[in-house]
Amino acid sequence: MDLVNAPQQSLRDDPNLALIGKERQQTDPRRILADRVEQLYDQLWIAIVAGFVVGSIATFELWEPGFRGLVLFWWALVSLMSVASAALLLRYRKSRNKLAEADRWLRWLGLSALAIGSVWGFASAVFFPSHTDEQQVFLAFLITGVVTGGVPLFSGSWPIYALFAASILLPFAYVLVNFGNPLFTELAALVPVFYAVNVAVAYRLSQVFVTGYRLRYAYGELTEDYRTLNKRLNEQLVELQEASRQVEESGRKLALFADRAPIAVTEIAADGHIQQVNPAAEILFGYAPAELIGKPFSILLAPEARAEFDRHWRTLIDAHKPLLAELITSLRRDGLELSCEWTLTPLVNGDGRILSVVAQGRDLSSQLEAERLKKEFTSTLSHELRTPLTSIIGSLQLINSGVVDKVEGEALQLTVIAERNGQRLLDLINDLLDIEKIRSGKFDIVPEMIAVDALLEEAQLLNRAFAERYNVRLLTRNECAETYIYADRKRMLQVLTNLISNASKFSPAGECVEMLTEDRGKRIRIRVQDRGPGIPEDFRAKIFTRFSQAETTAARQKGGTGLGLAICKHLMELMDGQIDFQDRPGGGSVFWIEMPKQLSSRD
Ligand code: ADP
Repeated sequence: MDLVNAPQQSLRDDPNLALIGKERQQTDPRRILADRVEQLYDQLWIAIVAGFVVGSIATFELWEPGFRGLVLFWWALVSLMSVASAALLLRYRKSRNKLAEADRWLRWLGLSALAIGSVWGFASAVFFPSHTDEQQVFLAFLITGVVTGGVPLFSGSWPIYALFAASILLPFAYVLVNFGNPLFTELAALVPVFYAVNVAVAYRLSQVFVTGYRLRYAYGELTEDYRTLNKRLNEQLVELQEASRQVEESGRKLALFADRAPIAVTEIAADGHIQQVNPAAEILFGYAPAELIGKPFSILLAPEARAEFDRHWRTLIDAHKPLLAELITSLRRDGLELSCEWTLTPLVNGDGRILSVVAQGRDLSSQLEAERLKKEFTSTLSHELRTPLTSIIGSLQLINSGVVDKVEGEALQLTVIAERNGQRLLDLINDLLDIEKIRSGKFDIVPEMIAVDALLEEAQLLNRAFAERYNVRLLTRNECAETYIYADRKRMLQVLTNLISNASKFSPAGECVEMLTEDRGKRIRIRVQDRGPGIPEDFRAKIFTRFSQAETTAARQKGGTGLGLAICKHLMELMDGQIDFQDRPGGGSVFWIEMPKQLSSRD
């Protein structure tokens, strides 16, 4: 879970909530209509039962000789309407899609109301003129009752009520007007008023129903929203609890890391005062936590380093820029100075305010001391060993060449061995010094314009004797006459010497080691190729790394340090060149170096 973002997600942004709201707005009118239809059908059975009962009572009341057939026919109509309406009610109850078909059910109900009303209209039109005064009063009472009773029953849809009432009152008003009785004519004039009032009441009631349903839905929506909100809040609460659990866990882990860390860790407030220290810091600086907490961090620094540290601190506070691995002279409680590498990281909150700064200090004093000793040793190697060794080798060379006195036989053999081993020792010392220079980044390159011809010639001259020692001939062929390279002459010769000596060492006796050039457009390649055993597959990847030699008897027999090619690679990179090797067709290896070509000595 995303610890930072999860708890911050706002409910307002919740797509589910937004969607639910919109959907409901669209479905409300449809649902409200369906509810009104449901209400109308719910009351339909009252209309059916009341209509049938009242119709039957009226049949009994109007059951006069001479009209019995007509009354019976009317009662049959009342029954038929009751059965038809009951069938409609049943079908509606069984319908599965009341919501989508609300319109259709409303139309059917309208028809049913019209039919019921017409039956009562029929009664008023046919029986009112033909019956006695008392029966007329009964009929008028009945009709008024039916019209008024229709208001609560059909006002779920005022047009249905208007239709129902019109189908009763229209024929009744017609009969009253044409009766020829002035009282009835006056009554007829009252019928539209009566009708209008009832329809108006039905209209008002239907409005009240609509509003009621709307309110019900609004309440339903609110409840649903509330439920969704509650659910979401609960989810967020769970997420928050989980987040807080994780934060707590991370806090514990962090505390554990800091406590067990072998380096000094302190937490510093933005005003520069120490808030916390870990045990390693206590041990390193010799303070108890209580002696450090609340004190300025500079208490841990040597006085002469404080001004510089203040500058770093200001940058860190102003620009929130961490201080990375800065070597600062620090101070122990007992006054001993330490060389500490400090890394200071600001902890910034969401508003960009620094909460605190975590400082990690690594004591490099022993490491720096070791390095100093190593340097001392290197310089001893360089001066105290190399200088006398060079003079020993020089002397041996003079003796062996017979310039001084003639040395012969076993004595000569011994001095030759001494010279060779002296040379090996010198090579080893030189290699170690070179590697040390590479490591400390103090390898100096003095580039100059070098003619490739001259370079090859010099390399040949320098290495001929060595090759001959292995009974190997050294051949040189330059395809790129008049070509120059811009490089350090001494270092180029060192690289070529290393390649030639390797090739000579590994070549079978009687073979040739060739030094060839190849024009590669803007670059020139110098190849040193032999007919030796080649480079074993599993050794290829590490051939240019320090102290690596192939695990073969040949390699062991030939001696060497495994440093030569590592030095060569570094030298070539320093001179903007390249070095690599490949198999030689027919056996052996080709080691090559490549340099950018300079076309003339002045380029
Ligand atoms: P060194 O020769 O002093 O041991 P190098 O770095 O010059 O160190 O060579 C590393 C190893 O690479 C050698 O010991 C040898 O195993 C292998 N090697 C170098 N050149 C050749 C070559 N021409 N033929 C076969 N093996 C070679």
